[in-house]
Amino acid sequence: MQYYSLNNNASNVAFSEAVIKGLAPDRGLYFPENITPLPKSFFENIENMDTAEIAYQAIHQFVGDEIPEVELRDILKDVLSFDFPVVEIEDNIGTLELFHGPTMAFKDVGARFMARCLGYFNRNNEDQVTVLVATSGDTGGAVANGFLGVKGVNVVILYPSGKVSDIQEKQLTTLGQNITALEVDGVFDDCQEMVKTAFLDTSITDHKQLTSANSINVARWLPQLFYFLFAYKQIKHKKKDLVFSVPSGNFGNICAGIVAHKLGLPVKHFVASTNINDTVVRYLQTSKYDPKPSKATISNAMDVGNPSNFIRIQQLFNNNFEALKSKFTAYSFTDEQTKKAMELIHDQSGYVSDPHGAVGYLGLKEQKLENNDYGIFLETAHPVKFLDIVEDTLDTTVKIPSQIQRVMDREKRSIKIKNYENLKEFLLR
Ligand SMILES: *Cc1c(COP(=O)(O)O)cnc(C)c1O
Repeated sequence: MQYYSLNNNASNVAFSEAVIKGLAPDRGLYFPENITPLPKSFFENIENMDTAEIAYQAIHQFVGDEIPEVELRDILKDVLSFDFPVVEIEDNIGTLELFHGPTMAFKDVGARFMARCLGYFNRNNEDQVTVLVATSGDTGGAVANGFLGVKGVNVVILYPSGKVSDIQEKQLTTLGQNITALEVDGVFDDCQEMVKTAFLDTSITDHKQLTSANSINVARWLPQLFYFLFAYKQIKHKKKDLVFSVPSGNFGNICAGIVAHKLGLPVKHFVASTNINDTVVRYLQTSKYDPKPSKATISNAMDVGNPSNFIRIQQLFNNNFEALKSKFTAYSFTDEQTKKAMELIHDQSGYVSDPHGAVGYLGLKEQKLENNDYGIFLETAHPVKFLDIVEDTLDTTVKIPSQIQRVMDREKRSIKIKNYENLKEFLLR
């Protein structure tokens, strides 16, 4: 499989190079040249396949022959060693829980898959690769955990000071070894911008092989398409029309869902649910893409003003605005609405949702499901990751799982930086 740059000004590359480079030399995101639908039999037999088999069938065309089948299957088995249950919380509404991985965020799957692919590509290589990643919250922890101890890879995580939760901060600042956390005096968009600039700065890249572990990296982005297949496997017997609502920030997760649909997954509609960072919502209303600086909210992993993956979504619809609108809707919700939804869900069903999941729930409600629809919202983080908000809003206590308690007891280590020059100094030290 070859990947091309969405800026159309760089040569095509194979999967391994797309993973190692992260971003194309023309600053474009890599995009697969073809997406070949899976055979009908795949969807007819999906309930008889385990998660690793489903994942292998879905991803191998994107990897091509660069990782041999046996190794790729081993990687997938290892990456997907936890559950992805759909929990019904109302008639015809379920939540797809994506938080059963080691950092309790849905990003565990993408981060672990990318780490293992990079480890494979680097297996005989003496040179170090530096993974540079900006996080609005959960990416950092998932990437730190996924890459911890991977040979030949150093990880540098940039996060906005004071704008991630305590647990998130501990998850990305306490591991040590090949993981360094840079605490940026700014917002997430500043972190993301610095990372993008570093990739194009030849005074750095002449000395260091840099790559990205944000969802701009195809190995982080594509494995997220598994979730939608796993949900279908569980809901198929209901014979309903599937509507997915995806709490969205950088729009990588929902974009991967649309790739699953391109592979043949029957999905009636996609709802992108956002907090007040509503660039895509405004775009769908006005057809003008007008990014704004991000604003802080209680669903902080979605505080993104200029979602990098939206351009991939447009590409999946051949840049046809009407085609996009017929399959894809976006709604924006305030923190007040989000808290009310958390209360409502809790009162009705006893289910404790995190703020991101609650935004997803609101999106389904706004979309107004029809009789034969089954709505699934993605629960992208365990409520314990947003402990203060969840406990204050619901007047309840959340039990802290052991994998979280372990990091809470460790000491935070970060390096404070203010601007791009500081980042550069650090990388060239
Ligand atoms: C990253 C993240 C999101 C947003 O996912 P995107 O792929 O960036 O749209 C939503 N919820 C949580 C908890 C996250 O960590």
